[in-house]
Amino acid sequence: MKIQRIIFSFISIGILTACAVTSNRSVLVNNGTPVDIQNINSSDKGPIIFKKIVAADWLADRAGLINLSDPKAVVAGLQSGKEPIQIYFYVIDHPKFGRYIIDTGLGDIFRKDKKEWPVSSIVASQMNLGDLKIHTTIKEWLQKDPKKVEGIFLTHLHLDHILGTQDFPAGTSVYTGQNEPGDSRFLHLFVQGSTDALLGAGTALSELNFFGREGAPIRFLDFFGDQSLYVISVPGHTEGSIAFLIKSTSGVQLITGDTCHTSWGWLNNVTPGGFTKDLERNKTSLNLLQSVAAKFPKIQIHPGHQSISASAK
Ligand SMILES: [Zn+2]
Repeated sequence: MKIQRIIFSFISIGILTACAVTSNRSVLVNNGTPVDIQNINSSDKGPIIFKKIVAADWLADRAGLINLSDPKAVVAGLQSGKEPIQIYFYVIDHPKFGRYIIDTGLGDIFRKDKKEWPVSSIVASQMNLGDLKIHTTIKEWLQKDPKKVEGIFLTHLHLDHILGTQDFPAGTSVYTGQNEPGDSRFLHLFVQGSTDALLGAGTALSELNFFGREGAPIRFLDFFGDQSLYVISVPGHTEGSIAFLIKSTSGVQLITGDTCHTSWGWLNNVTPGGFTKDLERNKTSLNLLQSVAAKFPKIQIHPGHQSISASAK
């Protein structure tokens, strides 16, 4: 009896301590046409004007960014410590469907005193936000290159990918991968308030439907239906992480999100470390992205937090 009660308390604690990443409302949407990897258009170019913007320089723990226990990391002698990284956002200008942004860089509020940031002080210090060196905010960038933003894609809902969401007009569509808003982790108890504040209280999220239609999981959605922008389901780093294959006027681009944070991780096909929720699923997703990249000899790869230099390829 006593044991049963103890087990019951553990189950209750388990339920109470797992927490969704956001309490914002979300709806499942059926944008995009499901396609198989074999049917991805093989051309090297497309109609989208693509821009990659450096929002900030930053530092993060290497053990979070790279799985240092991976045999390749051990052989390379990688040690724990701080790794220089960057925060990016990406601009997609489609001649017919307009402007979309991937991830949201930094909001203008981060130019102000820390006390005004929409992030709790514990989270800000845990995330090392004091080390951010801002290059541009979303507001500043959009003032220089104004155009209506039709929608925002979030590769996932970790805070460093949503810091500029409030700089977009209220009501702008915000797309995530399926199950991302409900991604449940103990850690989210501490970040949910900050995530909600950064997304904005009234912002409803649109979860792209990667299941549903034929029962089996879909990996690729041809978002506009013209083979120019493929959204790729890459669960593992988080429950609903997404990546992007873009056919642009400057060639084929692959945005990995945090399925791979670093240049070294991509070039050696090694997953992130402690920042990832499920290493095994992250590895399967990283392998999928590597097989997509292998189809395009001149593809440009954009890991989540570093840029691959031409000499490193
Ligand atoms: Zn990140």
